[in-house]
Amino acid sequence: MTIFRADKNFERFEDVTPSLLKKENVKLLLCDLDNTLRLHSEKEPADELQEWIKDCHAAGVKVVIISNNGRKKMMQKFCEPINVPCVWWAKKPMSKKLTEAMDKYKTPPEYTVMLGDKWSTDVLAAKFAGVRAWKVEHRRSVV
Ligand SMILES: [Mg+2]
Repeated sequence: MTIFRADKNFERFEDVTPSLLKKENVKLLLCDLDNTLRLHSEKEPADELQEWIKDCHAAGVKVVIISNNGRKKMMQKFCEPINVPCVWWAKKPMSKKLTEAMDKYKTPPEYTVMLGDKWSTDVLAAKFAGVRAWKVEHRRSVV
């Protein structure tokens, strides 16, 4: 069923380059947090994440983290230094928080992408919201 299939697959978030975002007309990039942008255990944004966010911003792409993680304080502390708004307890695959972000940042679905590691939450939420679903592999530590 196509509803379970991501529109694009990547190994890691770093593979979603600013030039690809431009080419694909992405203005709003909604991102899952755990195992997408960080390992579950990471307390602070990794250098590669900070660089990537900067590059996205420089390319004119708004990045918003939409997570099912309910730890509000932890998420705020993580997201503040990288200048990215975050939504916690998003209850994906429900699409309400994705739609709210599109409203808030005045971006229609055709310019929006949801990036995440799980089809049962991230991919489905994207489909329900009518935006493209881009999937990354579960994040692993690079040793
Ligand atoms: Mg995840």
